[in-house]
Amino acid sequence: MNEYWRTVFGWSKSRQDIWNTCKLQYYYTYIGKWEGWKDDLTRRKLQWLGKKTKWDFVKGQLAHEAIESQINQWAIGRDVSKEGAKNLFNLRLRKIQESPRDFLIEEMNGDPIPSEKYDEVRKDGSELLDSFFDIIWKNYEIHKYVKHEDFDSFQIGDVKVWVKVDLVTKLKTGETIVTDWKTGNPPDRETEDRQQVLGYILWAMKKFGLDAAQVRAELCYLRVPGDRPRIVSATMNQLKEFEDYVTTNAKVMLDVKFESDFLPNPLDKECQRCAFATVCPDGSSFIPKEARDTPIPPNWIGRPTND
Ligand code: SF4
Repeated sequence: MNEYWRTVFGWSKSRQDIWNTCKLQYYYTYIGKWEGWKDDLTRRKLQWLGKKTKWDFVKGQLAHEAIESQINQWAIGRDVSKEGAKNLFNLRLRKIQESPRDFLIEEMNGDPIPSEKYDEVRKDGSELLDSFFDIIWKNYEIHKYVKHEDFDSFQIGDVKVWVKVDLVTKLKTGETIVTDWKTGNPPDRETEDRQQVLGYILWAMKKFGLDAAQVRAELCYLRVPGDRPRIVSATMNQLKEFEDYVTTNAKVMLDVKFESDFLPNPLDKECQRCAFATVCPDGSSFIPKEARDTPIPPNWIGRPTND
C-alpha cells in the first residue's frame, strides 16, 4: 500500500461516517486515489469518481454555496442579495442538469435523476433561500463578522482534524459564535450533530485562543426559520470526551496495514449510492450491468485533495 496517505491524514466527521459505513468505500475515497503512479488508470478513475455527489446532497451544497457567495459580499462591507443567491443556486443546478454524469453518483450508477426532481430542488432551494434572507439573516447581520466557509484544521495531540465552518461572528459581549446552516430537518436526537459541533467549538478555542465559556455553536435550520437556532455550548469534560473519541478512532484508521484490511460492506441501498459502485467487485451487482464499465472522459483533468 502506498504510504503517502498517512502523511496527509486528517480526521473529519465525514471520514468517520464513511469508515463506519464501509471500509472499502473509505479505502477508495482516501487511499486508493494515491495508489500507483500519477497517471495510473485506476488511480485516476478513483479520483474522478470520488468527485461525484449524491443527489440528496445537491440541494444542501448549492444552498451553502449560494449563501456563501453573499456572505463574501457582507464580509467586505456590501449588502447581501437574495436574488444574487437564487441566481447562483439556479445556475449551478442548471449546469448539473445539463451534464449530470459529471456531477452525480446516481447517473454513474445507472439511476438517472428525472427532470421533476430538478424542479422540486429549484422550488425548495428558492424557499430555503427566502427563509434565510428574509428571516434568519436578520439575526446575524447585527453581529461582527469574523470568518466564513473555510476548510481549516487543528491538532488534537498528533492528529490533524479537519473542519469547515459556515460562519463565525462575534457578539458585543465578546462571545464568539460558530454557526452551521442546516438545510435538512432537525433530527430527533442531537447526538450526531453534537459531535460535529464539539469539533467546531474546539477549533474556535484553538484558532482564536479562547476558553470554552467564550465560544458557543449554533445549528441554524433553514427549514424552520421561526425556531431559535439550537445552541450548543460545551463543558471541558465533553470536549475531553470528544478529543478521546477522535484520537481513538484516528488510531484505528491509521493502524491498517494492507489493502485487505478494508473490508466491503455491500448493502443494496448504500452501494447504489456509492461513488465507487462501478469499480467495486462487491457493490457492482447492485447496479445495472451497462453502468459497470464507464471510462473516464479523456479530457478529464482532476487532482486529488489532501482531505
Ligand atoms: S459499492 Fe458498496 S461495498 Fe463497494 S465500496 Fe461502495 S459501499 Fe462499499
